[in-house]
This record gives sequence, C-alpha cells and structure tokens, in this order.
Amino acid sequence: MTKISTNEIDIVKSEKSRINDVDFDNLVFGRTFTDHMFYCDYVDGEWQQPKIVPYQPITIEPSARVFHYGQAVFEGMKGYKDDNGDAWLFRPNDNFERINKSAARLAIPEFPKEYFFEGLTTLLNMDKAWIKKGKGNSLYIRPFVFATEPAISASPANNYRFMIICSPAKAYYTAKLRVLFAEKYSRSANGGVGFAKAAGNYAAQFYPTNLANKKGYQQIIWTDANTHEYLEEAGTMNIFFRVNDTLITAPTSDRILDGITRKSVIQVAEDHNLKVEVRPVSVKEIKEAAANGSLKEIFGAGTAAVISPIAAFEHGGDVFELPELDNSYALQIKDHILNIQHNLSEDKHGWRFKV
Ligand SMILES: *Cc1c(COP(=O)(O)O)cnc(C)c1O
Repeated sequence: MTKISTNEIDIVKSEKSRINDVDFDNLVFGRTFTDHMFYCDYVDGEWQQPKIVPYQPITIEPSARVFHYGQAVFEGMKGYKDDNGDAWLFRPNDNFERINKSAARLAIPEFPKEYFFEGLTTLLNMDKAWIKKGKGNSLYIRPFVFATEPAISASPANNYRFMIICSPAKAYYTAKLRVLFAEKYSRSANGGVGFAKAAGNYAAQFYPTNLANKKGYQQIIWTDANTHEYLEEAGTMNIFFRVNDTLITAPTSDRILDGITRKSVIQVAEDHNLKVEVRPVSVKEIKEAAANGSLKEIFGAGTAAVISPIAAFEHGGDVFELPELDNSYALQIKDHILNIQHNLSEDKHGWRFKV
C-alpha cells in the first residue's frame, strides 16, 4: 500500500534561515516556527510523496471537511540537544502509535511508520540549529493530520494532509497553578474521544476554562462525566496526587489520554522506590486529605512543561492551599526526566532516540 520507499522525501530548502531574527531568550511558547515543515497528502486511498518545504502558509478550500466536522488529530513531542550537540527525541514511537490510535477513532487513515520517522528525522536534521543546548531548552514538535477534501457532506473525508511543524521552546519558570475541580462541565464521556488527541477536545474546554480563569483558576481538573466524583485529568496534562508518601493517579480509560509523561512519571517513581497507586481518585478523599494535612502535592504531567506543580484547588466553594515542600516529588521527578531527555543520565528503559 505504501507507494514509495523511504529516503525519498522531496525537499525544497529555504534560501535563508530565519534563525538570526529570533530572540531565543524571549520565546513565547508556540509562536515561532523553524525554517521547514513536513507534509504528506492522502489522495486516492494512498499517502503520496512526502515533502519538506520552507515553513509557509498552506492553501485549502473553505469547504475542506476539517472546518465543518472537525476531523483533525495531533501530537505533541519534543527534541532536545545534549552538550555534544547531538539531538534526541523522547519515546517517539509512543507518539507515532498514539497519533494513529487517535486517527482511527476519527475515521482518519493511519500514517505509515517509515514516513513518520523518515519525515521527523530529516526535518529535525535540517532544522537542528533551532534546538538549543541547555537543560529545559527544547524544540516542540507538532505532527497533525486533518481532512482536506472539499465537500461538506457529513461523512469522513477521502483526502487528508499530514504535517509536522516545529517551534523552539525555552526552559521557562512557571508559577504554580491554581485549579478548579469540575462540577458541571465535562471534557469526555464513556465511549467518546477523550483518549484521542482530537483537536475538538481542546475547543470544548475553552469556554469552561474561561469561566474558571475569571474566578482566578488557570486550569480545570476534569471529573468523570457521570458523577463528577472522580478526578480524571487536566485536559492538557495527566494529574498526580501525593497523599503522605504515596503517588496516586487515575487509570487511563476511553475518557483519559494515555500520556507519555504520565507513564514516565510512574516508571521513574517506581525506579526510586516510591509507592504509586493507579486507581480511581475521588474528590472526597482528596478534600479530606487536604483538610487533615496528608495531601502533600498535586501536579500535572505533560510534554509541554513535563511537570506542573499545583498550589491550590477549589471544589464546591471550598478552597485548599497546598503546603510548600522542601522535598517535592514533583521537582525531583521532573529533574530525573529532564536528565534522561537531555542525555545527562542513564537511560535504562531505552526512552531516548537519537535523531
Ligand atoms: C497531550 C495530552 C496529555 C499529556 O500527554 P503527554 O504524552 O504526556 O504529552 C494529557 N491530557 C491530554 C488531554 C492531552 O491531550
């Protein structure tokens, strides 16, 4: 079914790099893009010749189905550079498998593995100068696929475009988050698309998140849609609770995204003999633990920030502030993961992938 072999990407190089116009000390996340982009079209039941061209606007018909029915999925991954100048990815095969799992749920054809890796590594080697050395600096990589067929009948498209664009990201200090536990709105339901990185999952969160922002909370911790009694995830991050010395996180399901950072946090915690429980986490037990002082930490886990510590939460009008800790699990685990990503420590699970 694959039409061409690997090593056959059509490449058009940009005439002049834009890198010298970029202020790497003042990067705003997701606003600056590297010199090149990868794309591949699906036409007549086949993925066509993959291409790398200078980063530029694309032409698409207003009737393209993605605009009308939201057939679009994406991934988020990062590239890192070590002190020797070698570039690395972190568990990229998991991103590859997940984008196809997401695609299948939205009736989008799967993308071939050779094209994914050939495209990714060729693009990263071309734009390698955009990955800066230094722990925490990275290149955020965004693979995505969307329905391009110009036809507004409500059925899956026949044509798609797969693309990869890249954006340099700085190691940034983020203030601790204040979060609201969801009581009314939901991001996903049983049998739905919550496990997929579907573009529409994000659109659906914006309105309730705006309401939370107005109350002084940056994010919502989503609860199960049936009862709102169990804490599920943060919508861009999975979520961990530390009660005494035990880390607790919800099991993945068709409502929760199977985060690569989440999996890595669980493994790193176990490697350091921390107790981890993967089980449903109730709002009630977390409020009780906060009230009696056994709740030590809450943190989010996702590719963009790796770990995001949470300072406070609100539920049902009750506000709980979390203590400042000297021996925070969040910061220790973040450091372990960053060291593996930046080739600064042993990689005993084989997570690093040399570009
Ligand atoms: C991407 C994402 C995460 C985090 O997944 P990682 O693989 O760790 O980046 C968590 N929840 C949702 C809904 C996401 O889309």
